[in-house]
Amino acid sequence: MKIICIGRNYAEHAKELNNAVPEKPVFFMKPDTALLLDNKPFYLPDFSNDLHHEVELVLKISKMGKQIEKGFAYRYFDEIGIGIDFTARDLQRECKQKGLPWEVAKAFDHSAPLGGFLSRKDLPDPILFHLDINGKTVQEGTTEDLLFSFDELIAYVSRFITLRTGDLIFTGTPAGVGPVKKGDRLQAYIGDKLLLDFDVK
Ligand code: MG
Repeated sequence: MKIICIGRNYAEHAKELNNAVPEKPVFFMKPDTALLLDNKPFYLPDFSNDLHHEVELVLKISKMGKQIEKGFAYRYFDEIGIGIDFTARDLQRECKQKGLPWEVAKAFDHSAPLGGFLSRKDLPDPILFHLDINGKTVQEGTTEDLLFSFDELIAYVSRFITLRTGDLIFTGTPAGVGPVKKGDRLQAYIGDKLLLDFDVK
């Protein structure tokens, strides 16, 4: 399986990092070794001094498709979950300045903690989600603020890359990203359902 991550999909987040709001989706990838499952703890890597949380809704692809039309995209995902796109912001800044790829900052081991999934048919529209750190809400999002809808993302990405059953799409983070530190407890919710709960060590 593969993990496709969308960048800059919420205008307020693009602004907080001084990025232009994109005219088409921006995406990058993480390998399957980036996954961190079962609420296992996340160990801070030694190569970054500015490790940021980015909470994101995650689509689980339910059947293979390529060049999927936007109008049919809803047929390709049944479940929505929540995860963290951990980002070594210091390394990413360096990559951006030099015009280099982002993998060192985004694709490292356990950079994608992933929580439980909910059936899409049980979810309201819009979907609200949030991240708490040590009991305090630090990021809140709603699918109303998406620059590119889930259907648009699937249509766009599948023009370039075949989607297979089990692939994941991290759909971008709302504003409020920031550093995590040793001892933090991260809890991510869709609505009032706690789906991801782990410690930073
Ligand atoms: Mg992200």
